[in-house]
Amino acid sequence: MIEPLFTPAFRPAEPRGLCTDCGVSRMADAKACGRACQFIQPDYPRFEAALHGRTRDDQKADETHFGVFRRMVRARLAPARDGAQWTGIATTLGEKLLAAGLVEAVLTVAPDPEDRWKPKPVIVTRAQDMAGCRGMRMGYSPLIALMEEVAARGLKRIALIGIPCQVYALRALEAEFGLEKLYVIGTPCSDNTTTENFHDFLKLLDPEPDTISYLEFRADFRVELRFDDGRQRLIPFLSLPISKLPRDFFPLTCRTCVDYTNALSDLTVGYMGGEGEQWLIVRNERGEALLELLGDALVTSEPGSKGKRAPHVAAFIKNVELAAGGLPLRSMPDWVRPLVSFLQPRIGPKGLEFARTRLEMKAAETVIHLRREEPAKLKNMVPTHVWKLLAAYGIMPAPGEQKDPG
Ligand SMILES: Cc1cc2nc3c(=O)[nH]c(=O)nc-3n(C[C@H](O)[C@H](O)[C@H](O)COP(=O)(O)OP(=O)(O)OC[C@H]3O[C@@H](n4cnc5c(N)ncnc54)[C@H](O)[C@@H]3O)c2cc1C
Ligand code: SF4
Ligand code: SF4
Repeated sequence: MIEPLFTPAFRPAEPRGLCTDCGVSRMADAKACGRACQFIQPDYPRFEAALHGRTRDDQKADETHFGVFRRMVRARLAPARDGAQWTGIATTLGEKLLAAGLVEAVLTVAPDPEDRWKPKPVIVTRAQDMAGCRGMRMGYSPLIALMEEVAARGLKRIALIGIPCQVYALRALEAEFGLEKLYVIGTPCSDNTTTENFHDFLKLLDPEPDTISYLEFRADFRVELRFDDGRQRLIPFLSLPISKLPRDFFPLTCRTCVDYTNALSDLTVGYMGGEGEQWLIVRNERGEALLELLGDALVTSEPGSKGKRAPHVAAFIKNVELAAGGLPLRSMPDWVRPLVSFLQPRIGPKGLEFARTRLEMKAAETVIHLRREEPAKLKNMVPTHVWKLLAAYGIMPAPGEQKDPG
């Protein structure tokens, strides 16, 4: 009998330079990394055109930032699902797809039985088992290697819930897998790190790190912690012990990754533009069909947008540059932190403007860190839209840093 949350044995990962072990290097054709990797020579316009019918329209508000979309929605599931990271939209979509027989399997991650923060890739074939995949894990998992098991079992209709570096690899190889139907539910992703590093972070946050059951960076500039005994703690971003983290806490992959909003998903399920609710980016017809599955349980409204991002982004860029390879925010004296922490949720950008702020910050980090640590990678790795987001801050491609200007 096949266990409900099935994980096959994987081959060892093949060492690579910039790599988040998405699973491709563990497949029989490990060389596929060359055409599948977000960190080697990604071609977002090509896959956007194939999937969404067109590339980003710079004249359409927000597409340069968030990728091709039909509409964006502020949303929540009512009632919220227990154990979900937000309200459980991502895993409930998997549940509905399986229950309706639209897919034979959902590929996603579940908590590793030995360590609840470690993501373990799983093939889910029963709707009721999606509940066991709720919540955010920190770390990398070879999700795409599950495609070999999909082929071995002769599965043709599947869904995948994944982060952008996994989804890019899946899209790049999709045509080779011979599927009849593929639904891709993507989440945004930023500032991921190894599960081991994440445990060190939890130790700095609380005297009882092993009892922390939930962590989220909220849109009101605070980190929310939940504990096994039901307690909750909110820590303002600027009071986080960032300066105590080692220099390499965030691997270069996650400091330089170019696709925060999962542009090649059918539907992106995040929170950044949701002002305390979830934020959905419906990218194509398949994404619309996914949303319909949720019916009346999905409560929606128009996303809001308030504030001005430019001064915040400019200050951030200065910090990243000054920190010369360390983490930003280090330069703020301790006595200023409580005051800034108090003010930030009141004066900071909100809703879509908050999401734009984060996208521009991330774009700046990509260029600044690559220039410092892997300058030869800029030309092939950084897509045009990332440069466009930075033009307003005077960060332009130097000669040789851009493959396809315009
Ligand atoms: C490392 C990381 C950073 C993120 N950063 C942001 C951000 O900056 N802004 C934003 O809007 N959203 C971010 N997200 C997404 C966000 O945390 C929620 O997953 C998303 O809003 C969906 O919430 P939900 O309640 O619908 O998900 P749930 O129904 O609880 O399902 C969560 C899904 O995410 C999958 N998942 C969890 N951890 C991982 C992982 N490490 N690798 C691959 N898949 C995983 C689970 O398997 C599950 O399918 C991040 C996610 C991760 C994993
Ligand atoms: S992230 Fe994936 S595609 Fe890229 S090198 Fe690593 S295993 Fe290969
Ligand atoms: S931040 Fe980017 S590279 Fe790192 S895990 Fe997330 S999607 Fe992958």
